[in-house]
Amino acid sequence: MSTLTVDDVSKYYGDVTAVEGVSFEIEDEFAILLGESGAGKSTMLRCINGLTSPSEGEIRLNGEPVNSSRSDIGMIFQQHNLVEGVSAYLNALNGGLSRTSVLKSIFQWQGRDDKKQALDALETVGLLEEAHQTVSQMSGGQQQRVGIARALVQNPRLLLADEPVASLDPSSAETVMAYLKKAAVEHDVTALVSLHQVNIAAYFGERFIGLRDGGLLFDVKRDELTPAL
Ligand code: ADP
Ligand code: ADP
Repeated sequence: MSTLTVDDVSKYYGDVTAVEGVSFEIEDEFAILLGESGAGKSTMLRCINGLTSPSEGEIRLNGEPVNSSRSDIGMIFQQHNLVEGVSAYLNALNGGLSRTSVLKSIFQWQGRDDKKQALDALETVGLLEEAHQTVSQMSGGQQQRVGIARALVQNPRLLLADEPVASLDPSSAETVMAYLKKAAVEHDVTALVSLHQVNIAAYFGERFIGLRDGGLLFDVKRDELTPAL
């Protein structure tokens, strides 16, 4: 159960306005951040996970301001940022970029619980049998599912994904989105996923937050929509 609050956030890069005056709140939902290239989606997600700070406004998770040191926000990138030469299992195990997980990686501290968690996460994304394959031998879609498993191992309270299927063919994109939604639902995590494809958004989303030129274009829940007769 988590609430993400984005409160009148703007982000400027010099003269460039990347995000302007955006507010929304999501709670226990699988939400889609929808917009064309350049709309401000990456900037918004980077502000939410603390990789960058808003120029104005505030972002809170369960009432607490976000910043780069918190480890309860899991992030999935378009380019998955996996370690290519090692197995899916080790990628999931050594997962997040939190202080604890980095120290664990350096000092090989993984206990039985960590190992079980990594395997459980790979099972959630349908890759238990492939756990010991090297990720560079996997397809793009499978690699992205390892990225989801890695984010889950952090026990996030919020899952962010920045165009997670942008570089995949349509069929792999659907598979990855289905596993991403399954992961969020099974782990009871609020999710915010950026996409530029309306059809994929419409199929999987429960909430749709639209950006255009950095501003909020719409914010609708699926169950607020009345199907046209
Ligand atoms: P999207 O993810 O929707 O494609 P971005 O958040 O990447 O949108 O970009 C929004 C706008 O902000 C674009 O005009 C982009 O060029 C600009 N922008 C993003 N990051 C930077 C940056 N680090 N420096 C300057 N301009 C940036
Ligand atoms: P996306 O694929 O989400 O649109 P981009 O390729 O626009 O992302 O941006 C990738 C990186 O480059 C980000 O760190 C972003 O902040 C930065 N960036 C984007 N646009 C600009 C820009 N006009 N000037 C400087 N940096 C930028």
